[in-house]
Amino acid sequence: MSPYGVESKTSPIEGLGLFATQSFSVGQKIAPYLGHTTERIDPPSSSAKSATYWLEIKPGLWLDGSFAENPARHANHSCAPNAELIYDNTVNEAWLIASQAITANDEITFDYGFSIAEGLFHPCCCRQTNCAGHIVAAPLRPALRRHLRFSRSRD
Ligand SMILES: [Zn+2]
Repeated sequence: MSPYGVESKTSPIEGLGLFATQSFSVGQKIAPYLGHTTERIDPPSSSAKSATYWLEIKPGLWLDGSFAENPARHANHSCAPNAELIYDNTVNEAWLIASQAITANDEITFDYGFSIAEGLFHPCCCRQTNCAGHIVAAPLRPALRRHLRFSRSRD
């Protein structure tokens, strides 16, 4: 049992997802995203499946949340998420914080914040009406759409 109000179970988005076992109000802490931090410029390996556990929590600082002790490791990306990953410099911890009201059994999702280069390796299956089709940070999605439009073969 998680000490937090979350559990991992099969997700309609992909694989296992993180689900609320209680309600959370906007701004409330949900669970820490635990991991090892590494300073580097580029993501570890954009094409690896495990790359979805590597998150750039501030420029050049990467957090690997792939290990079993991370209670939030199964949180999926969504193009319309209900949580945010907030990194607190002062305590060196990243937490999922509710950005929308969450009720028990809701799947908890956040924006992985991937670059376009990373996102091209990771299709998004969030099924939101505004889904960009790839896991890409919200501010980059208009550029992704332009990229995909111009890189499509013409006939
Ligand atoms: Zn999506």
